[in-house]
Amino acid sequence: LERTFSIIKPDATRRNLTGKINAKFEEAGLRIVAQKRIHLTKAQAGEFYKVHAARPFYDELCEFMASAPIVAQVLEGEDAISKNREVMGATNPADAAEGTIRAEFAESVGENSVHGSDAPDTAAEEIAYFFSGLELV
Ligand code: ATP
Ligand code: MG
Repeated sequence: LERTFSIIKPDATRRNLTGKINAKFEEAGLRIVAQKRIHLTKAQAGEFYKVHAARPFYDELCEFMASAPIVAQVLEGEDAISKNREVMGATNPADAAEGTIRAEFAESVGENSVHGSDAPDTAAEEIAYFFSGLELV
């Protein structure tokens, strides 16, 4: 079984959508094996999204990710990385397939409700950034 890292973003926690989003993961066969609510500083958000540092939306993205608590999660399942990204839908909710989390809940291309790791190396890195070995069983 594979593991991936997921974030329920501030736009979604603000609207009390954690349970509905988690139901989508579980219905897709993804098991929530670790989960915690945290409020990132802008600097921590910037560190997490540093691959996007040169993009025009970087400052806005860091501001947004620090604007309210997030729920950081580890999801486990068969092909968890690609399955999670399938359930999330396209980055821009206008392009997201029907039934996906972003189609149903995202407010805009920036405030798009969820993050999911895009490859095994980033998944491992992101899990380790947010969770200690003791929190992962
Ligand atoms: P994530 O990495 O959060 O799972 P993603 O892989 O679908 O999303 P990326 O291209 O990695 O998308 O962009 C990271 C995040 O930056 C997006 O999820 C979104 O919140 C924000 N973002 C991306 N493109 C834009 C944009 N054009 N304008 C504003 N914000 C954007
Ligand atoms: Mg990405």
